[in-house]
Amino acid sequence: MTAIPRQRHAAATSQTRPETWNLVDAGTRSASSAMAPTLAVSLHDVAPATWCACERVLAAVAAVAPIPVALLVVPRYRGVDSAYDRRFLRAIDARLTQGDEAVLHGWTHVDDSPVRRPFDLLARRVYTAGEGEFAALDRMDALRRLHAGVGWFAARGWPLRGFVAPAWLMSRAARAALVDTPLQYAATRRELLLLSAGQTLFAPSLCWSTRSRWRRAASTPWNALLALVNARRPLLRLALHPGDADHREVMRSWQSELHAALQVRVARTEGDVADDWIAHLPPEPFTETTVESRADPRAFDVEGEVSDEAQLQAHRPRERMSHGQGQGQG
Ligand SMILES: [Zn+2]
Repeated sequence: MTAIPRQRHAAATSQTRPETWNLVDAGTRSASSAMAPTLAVSLHDVAPATWCACERVLAAVAAVAPIPVALLVVPRYRGVDSAYDRRFLRAIDARLTQGDEAVLHGWTHVDDSPVRRPFDLLARRVYTAGEGEFAALDRMDALRRLHAGVGWFAARGWPLRGFVAPAWLMSRAARAALVDTPLQYAATRRELLLLSAGQTLFAPSLCWSTRSRWRRAASTPWNALLALVNARRPLLRLALHPGDADHREVMRSWQSELHAALQVRVARTEGDVADDWIAHLPPEPFTETTVESRADPRAFDVEGEVSDEAQLQAHRPRERMSHGQGQGQG
């Protein structure tokens, strides 16, 4: 596979970021801070190789309404560095200027981990066509790819807050590794994970499949049903893919759902939803006990001193509240 730059990460950073998740329905917050009905639209698999198709999808979105879209960029899509295409980079720059958000969507988008169980064969090689890059990664491999992606975004000067695993598949180790990164949130097919807060928002996604005639035919009634069932959910998401403007019946279907959702929902990116959610978290009590409990025992060096990084992290109990500062470059 493509070589990934190895980067060191401080062992202490994960100790102030929880690895367990509390499921929160966005509608359960207090009335003063309750989330207005929201729609988050994202476009997966953004890379030079798919950009022409992506532009068709973005034009079809704009034909319904001029709304912000989360662009799920793959830094080395199928092994090719996406930075080679200047026109592509300028196009993303322009989209970000207009209010879109760039999101890290894996490193290569290729699942090159070995398959060990029959179920894996079905889920990873048949259902997702071998694109679930993070489906079977161990913690260190996941971290190497995540940090490589964070560095790739920083090199472009693109603000980075979120991560979405290719094909929405993440191993348990990969999911745990997310807290060891500067990322603010990650999204699965049904959830938004607020990494710094250890909370999970239920946020179902409508998604169309174009790989075969029967999948395209089934997508329309299936997504109509999903939209109906989740009509009262505060956060609904629309997940689009580069081929979604290439089949008229599919495009009509998602444009119809998009138009209907925008009659009752405001369009925002997941990053803006996550920022708003974190900003409204109740303040966390800060005590000396909190400081002691946050110091990571594993961060002690051989002389028994707490490392500088551990001390620094221990004195950042409100780090989650300052998400708007210094996160821009990932
Ligand atoms: Zn993808």
